[in-house]
Amino acid sequence: MHRTWVELDEQALISNIKTLRALSEGARFCAVVKANAYGHGMKEVAQIASRAGVSAFAVDELDDALELRALFPSALIVVIGYVMFHRFAEAIRENIELTVYDREGVLHAETIAASTASAARIHVKVETGTSRQGVLMDDLDDLLLEIGRSKHLVLSGLSTHFANIEDTANPEYASLQFSRFTEAVAAATRHGFSPEFIHCACSAAILLFPDTHGTLVRAGISLYGLWPTPMIEELIRKQNISCDLRPVLRWKTRIAQIKSLPTGTPISYGLTERLKQRSRIAVLPVGYWDGYDRRLSSVGEVLVGGHRCKVMGRVCMNMIMADISAVPKVEKEQVATLIGVDGRHEVTAAELARKCQTIPYEIIARINPLLPRVIVG
Ligand SMILES: *Cc1c(COP(=O)(O)O)cnc(C)c1O
Repeated sequence: MHRTWVELDEQALISNIKTLRALSEGARFCAVVKANAYGHGMKEVAQIASRAGVSAFAVDELDDALELRALFPSALIVVIGYVMFHRFAEAIRENIELTVYDREGVLHAETIAASTASAARIHVKVETGTSRQGVLMDDLDDLLLEIGRSKHLVLSGLSTHFANIEDTANPEYASLQFSRFTEAVAAATRHGFSPEFIHCACSAAILLFPDTHGTLVRAGISLYGLWPTPMIEELIRKQNISCDLRPVLRWKTRIAQIKSLPTGTPISYGLTERLKQRSRIAVLPVGYWDGYDRRLSSVGEVLVGGHRCKVMGRVCMNMIMADISAVPKVEKEQVATLIGVDGRHEVTAAELARKCQTIPYEIIARINPLLPRVIVG
């Protein structure tokens, strides 16, 4: 029994994995579990995924990679984010694959691998237009030459990342990036490399652009049962692609106090909202520290007893208040759903994202990792 917790629907996760694998047959399926598995809980998600046959994981940082390595001695673990040079030795020792994109990175990986007489498996990330991490196309040949000169490096992967593939009204930019990536793959071949993993497909690409799948796909948001954007969902439905994504995460809390308050009573800090009528107010032990966004002040809704209940006044650090006047029978410690289904109603991460003028990725990724994660079968 917890006061505020995250529930993971194991069957939903397994079903999403099956669905996405069916759409990307022929490519290795890599679960993107960065950001604590998008707020779900990295260990919990990786363990379920592993039982469902997933043996490749992408993380943003080395600490996550090391945690996964301890759990899965033979999995493919790729760090897609930045690793500081002083930690290359740990990565190489644990057979964790590093993303590199410059001469310094290549030389450093070679030095460390040579000093331990081991091989370092690297993925070269190519800059195709996201202007984030990656080697510029103009510098790719030099980088490949450098890798060719090294004795301890294995070019395990070649990758890039799309800047605008979720915005399907304009697929032109993604096509441009993909054609640059195709050139990069050709350059690697010219230099005598045949990287095992050619990868650029995130969820939107997995769902809509089979040509981009390469030999490995990186599934993030879709793995968790959420659509990258409402537009992608619409397009999938229009094209009659059979793709049923089921949300994995539910976020719940319990009523800490119930009180009846008269008309005009201000609720929470700043007195920003006053009761328009006599109301019953529930105090819930969750706030922005837990990841319940402060922008949900006076606009968020939680589900209690199958009813939608508005968040009243400001979201506090560790508490919120909700109007439960419409719920006939409420008890202290009764469950309130922050994200999930209760009766005929559902609060989705997408709904909260709209209210916060952000994307569902941010809503779930910011759920405090210290909250308990409970797997429900
Ligand atoms: C986060 C991330 C992904 C996953 O993207 P989704 O849209 O969540 O599927 C894939 N590749 C890279 C490089 C990423 O940073």
